[in-house]
Amino acid sequence: MPFMADKRYNVIIVGGGIVGLAVGLEITRRFPQLRLLLLEKEEHVGQHQSGHNSGVIHSGIYYKPGSLKAKLCVTGAAAMVEFCREHDLPHQICGKVIVATQEEEFPRLEELRRRGEANGLTGLQSIGPEELHQFEPHATGLRALVVPSTGITDYAAVCDKYAELISNRGGTILTSHAVLALKRTADEIVVETNGGAFSATSLINCAGLFSDRISRMAGDDPQVMIVPFRGEYYDLIPERSSLVRGLIYPVPDPRFPFLGVHFTRRINGSVDAGPNAVLAFRREGYRRTDFNLRDLATSLAFPGFWRMGAKNWRSGLDEFHRSFSKSAFVHALQRLVPEVHKADLIPGGAGVRAQAVTRQGALVDDFQFVPSGRMLHVLNVPSPAATASLMIGRTIVDTAATGLGLQ
Ligand SMILES: Cc1cc2nc3c(=O)[nH]c(=O)nc-3n(C[C@H](O)[C@H](O)[C@H](O)COP(=O)(O)OP(=O)(O)OC[C@H]3O[C@@H](n4cnc5c(N)ncnc54)[C@H](O)[C@@H]3O)c2cc1C
Repeated sequence: MPFMADKRYNVIIVGGGIVGLAVGLEITRRFPQLRLLLLEKEEHVGQHQSGHNSGVIHSGIYYKPGSLKAKLCVTGAAAMVEFCREHDLPHQICGKVIVATQEEEFPRLEELRRRGEANGLTGLQSIGPEELHQFEPHATGLRALVVPSTGITDYAAVCDKYAELISNRGGTILTSHAVLALKRTADEIVVETNGGAFSATSLINCAGLFSDRISRMAGDDPQVMIVPFRGEYYDLIPERSSLVRGLIYPVPDPRFPFLGVHFTRRINGSVDAGPNAVLAFRREGYRRTDFNLRDLATSLAFPGFWRMGAKNWRSGLDEFHRSFSKSAFVHALQRLVPEVHKADLIPGGAGVRAQAVTRQGALVDDFQFVPSGRMLHVLNVPSPAATASLMIGRTIVDTAATGLGLQ
């Protein structure tokens, strides 16, 4: 079918997750005169990573000082709390504890404290087992770090509010519009969807689990591939949710960008445990049995996938084991809260993380925004991107406004 644009815009955003919406929010705030269109393939915004996460407003303690993650998480957490207050969205600053259960974790816990302080966090407190009981009466550990600024919210509600504000400011959001093809002409970009074609002078790709594919559709080589890692949760049954007051985390393995299974109190009062990080055979594969031939074939054809596997096969197998064996999952949780038993946990939800992997097989650690002429590809925005979303939106618009011709 020939490309025939029937609607013209100044800027098109692909993807109605929290990042695409935050970018749209910032553009409609800063450049209200621009015609903005946001295209989302699902019937509603925030249906994938942004609506299937832990709901934590991260403090910024984990990230390398000077990285985008560190800067945008710390400022983004404050902006998120302010946004929730201003718009009356549910949120709570409940604080969290990161618990060392073995002596060999002490240097890593100390390093987290150093990172947190370098990133500007205040109020961090190193505590011993007795003080840990005052914060979390059922948690056990040898040492712990208290992070008072961590909070919780409901990111699906945040997405809805971003979308409402974009519409109020004159932006257009079209759901059930999947981007199928992109074409660059001399002065515009034509976007073909299942609901017709649209054109714009600039485009921002915020397609999450499909951001590398959208980049390829545009004729670019993203240099990375998005590998889906499913995170599965169990829920604590209501009668046992008093085992956890707030957020109880292990000391993470610094080789991986995932935080290790932990306990999270949700804004609705329930408590869940997880998420693990299992290689998924489908980009939007929320169940163990989900499989997509194209997704798997693309992964297998990418040299970085095999290199990643060669480096991390052992931990990958452990994650599969924990996915299929509830006992193994519970065992990992009992290191933090020994009183938790198999019968206390029922299967909960799942989310799929979009993790960019390089050709060399490295998991890309920092956020990655890649300009290409009048386009910008947002290629790696894993956790804490929900927390940092408002600042990600601002940074993208600050740094790319001129290149994208938004000024
Ligand atoms: C299990 C899990 C737990 C997490 N916990 C936290 C946490 O506690 N705190 C935190 O800050 N972060 C957390 N994160 C990370 C956070 O959720 C993500 O970083 C963030 O949601 C990424 O937003 P996004 O907009 O890039 O992606 P998404 O929300 O996935 O949005 C991308 C959108 O693009 C759309 N799309 C894709 N292809 C097309 C197409 N062809 N045409 C049109 N639309 C398309 C998709 O339908 C989707 O809606 C977690 C993530 C997971 C998976």
